[in-house]
Amino acid sequence: MAHGIGISVTERLAAAVIVDYTVTGNLVVEPDDGGGTNSLIGVPADTIVQRIAALLERLEIKQAPTHVGLALPGIIRNGIVEDSPNLVQFKGLNMQASLAEALSSRFGKLAVSVTNDANAMAAGMAAGRGYLDRLIRLWFLGTGIGFGRYPQADGVWEAGHSIVTLDPKEQFCGCGGKGHLEGIMGLRAMRLRFMDLEPEEVFAQAEAGESRCVEFVKLWHRALAAATATSIHMSGPGKVFVTGPNAKFVSLPLINEYLNEMVKLSPLQSYSVEVVPGSEDENATIGAAVIASQAAQRA
Ligand SMILES: [Zn+2]
Repeated sequence: MAHGIGISVTERLAAAVIVDYTVTGNLVVEPDDGGGTNSLIGVPADTIVQRIAALLERLEIKQAPTHVGLALPGIIRNGIVEDSPNLVQFKGLNMQASLAEALSSRFGKLAVSVTNDANAMAAGMAAGRGYLDRLIRLWFLGTGIGFGRYPQADGVWEAGHSIVTLDPKEQFCGCGGKGHLEGIMGLRAMRLRFMDLEPEEVFAQAEAGESRCVEFVKLWHRALAAATATSIHMSGPGKVFVTGPNAKFVSLPLINEYLNEMVKLSPLQSYSVEVVPGSEDENATIGAAVIASQAAQRA
């Protein structure tokens, strides 16, 4: 079985050797402080590339890898980061070429592929559950809202910026657009909306019946259901995963109740939503390696 390396660059760096769609040996992360803050904001892109190369030194690599996959937030095409709102220093960078060069002295020539982090997580989720033969969609609830799909398909797929409301006052999205899903669900957007409360407190106060928070929590779920319903109407039913640090706030019964109101066409009823908090690093590294391996086979 071909050995690959999966790397994820999100709010921190993670890497692992991936054999047979699973992490083999240790998953290394940097910084390893439990997370919570974005350690990569403002760090120059070439410093991050060097840190990735250094991180790989910590992996137990028993067999020469044939492919390396890297997952990164943003719009990525042909190895080039066209945009990355949360890691602006990467914009315009040919990440595939930079990483291949940084790794060449150690590994020689090997297949490198770069993919959107949410797409990588969707591939990782598909690989881990034996779903590589079907359409998988994934919402990543973090600072922003990521949308991933497997198999990868041509297109932009910035569904985190789906329009879920026509209210012009809804303008908290990181991209500046009005009415976007991320403008309601994203961590940054929630902090802008509730200047006096952290998201944890908003959800706790909603539990306790505080009316402004109760209304917001309904809106938050309705927004996710709306964007999911739109995706079901565009791409069909199937499996939808919800992950990321804020997946812990999701009430699955509420999502299903709203989806039930929004998706009525009978051929579209066979959708299912699953909430999977945690293990983002593992999913992203597995998925990045799966996508790299598939790309290497096609080449
Ligand atoms: Zn937006």
